[in-house]
Amino acid sequence: SSQISDIWLETRVAAESLADFVSGARLRLGVTGLSRAGKTVFITSLVHHLTRALVAGRKAHLPVFRALTEGRILSAHLDPQPDFNVPRFAYEEHLEALTSGEERHWPQSTRRISELRVSIEFNSKAWSLRHLGQAHARLDIDIVDYPGEWLLDLPLLGKTYAQWSHETLEAASAAARAPIAANWRGATAAADPKGRYSEQTAQKLARLFTEYLRLAKTERFALSTLPPGRFLMPGDLEGSPALTFAPLPVAEGEELPYRSLGREMERRYEAYKTHVVKPFFRDHFARLDRQIVLVDALTALNSGPAAVRDLENALTDVLNAFRTGRSNLITQMFRPKIDRILFAATKADHLHHTSHDRLEAILRHLTSRAIARAEGVGAEIDVIAMAAVRATREAMVRHEGEKLAAIVGTPIEGERIGDDVFDGIAEGAIFPGELPEDPKLVFRGDALALDEEEAEYRFLKFRPPVAKIAKDQEALPLPHIRLDRAMEFLFGDKLA
Ligand code: GDP
Repeated sequence: SSQISDIWLETRVAAESLADFVSGARLRLGVTGLSRAGKTVFITSLVHHLTRALVAGRKAHLPVFRALTEGRILSAHLDPQPDFNVPRFAYEEHLEALTSGEERHWPQSTRRISELRVSIEFNSKAWSLRHLGQAHARLDIDIVDYPGEWLLDLPLLGKTYAQWSHETLEAASAAARAPIAANWRGATAAADPKGRYSEQTAQKLARLFTEYLRLAKTERFALSTLPPGRFLMPGDLEGSPALTFAPLPVAEGEELPYRSLGREMERRYEAYKTHVVKPFFRDHFARLDRQIVLVDALTALNSGPAAVRDLENALTDVLNAFRTGRSNLITQMFRPKIDRILFAATKADHLHHTSHDRLEAILRHLTSRAIARAEGVGAEIDVIAMAAVRATREAMVRHEGEKLAAIVGTPIEGERIGDDVFDGIAEGAIFPGELPEDPKLVFRGDALALDEEEAEYRFLKFRPPVAKIAKDQEALPLPHIRLDRAMEFLFGDKLA
């Protein structure tokens, strides 16, 4: 009888998902970006705005989000997610972090894939044009959060261990990377790929290689990431053999002796492709309908032209993952049928509003080159500068007798503030400087030339703003910059 009840349960589960399929539309929305780009903050703020928009009412400040301003949103709430084997995005925890009064702080960043479903009930204009009467419709948005580092792994599927090793060692010899790669390259030169495998050597090389990748990502260098993506964002795989390998100088087609270091490294590289890279692209990436790619362009701009160029390369690689058409069959199999991609420069609240359009132009410039190189992306692409949470306000500040436009907020603890900077402002102020009007200038060393002190002020980090509390004692959505534009582009048309 337990068998019968199993079958009955299975049938019911199938029927429920069929009912889902029939009654409402679904949209799988990918949210990605390199680590610290702002994915967690974006999703938390987006979902808070959606689910609290009706409570916030006119104060919602989402003028560009049409379904809401036209009064057609009936409700928006969290629903059980469709995939049982994917961690749930810890929305409540992250929201609590952002909105808990004096204790408020930025939430824990993305470390692995997670998912969250928001169901929106709305009045459909399109429906009522075609039919008479009822226009009540539903859209389920499945938000899929995943580290952008993982996307950089797609090209590995078409590369042998020898090819990947060669490219990685070559990239490490570039001027910007050579100093931080020295330790690892030294150890690599001392290792013999044909010599007998030892776990100690494998671990040491993997550790030094990972350290190099990590150094390249620190703010001082702000170089974007090289594959393998899981070395910096291991998810649940930390310490497993599939993540304990490193490139070695081996020739293409070379027979490596049984049990040699080179052969074992190659085996692990292949295991990484089979057990880590492929399942992610097949089970998650290939199912996305729309995608937002968050980009922390400001940090790269602050670090200088090498970092900007590197970011551009990383964006090209990210965009490659979406490219349809050409290229080899394996990688093509894992491509999603995405019809819209939004590139968003985050943390625009660190700039004066007069610079928002310039930041947008810079990101457009960086991605347009990426798109041109990645010929034939079959999707509509837009670019935006935004802040999912606006932690600052603008003010005129007197500084050494001069009146200057400043960005004012509450600095997070431990951040240095120059005492002379603010007369009469109890908070922290930065003078954000001007972004160049011509986006091409970001590749020039002197475009943003800042002395060290200036650079430090630019890096000042602010605490999240204090949330207002509604009549129901729950927090209202936090202020933002252009979040509504992102919403309209990503799913506004599905709420028509
Ligand atoms: P993730 O690694 O992509 O999940 O990045 P997070 O969402 O955790 O963001 C990383 C950090 O960037 C946060 O801890 C904040 O300090 C900062 N940040 C992210 N979004 C915003 C924003 O909209 N405004 C401001 N001022 N800071 C942000």
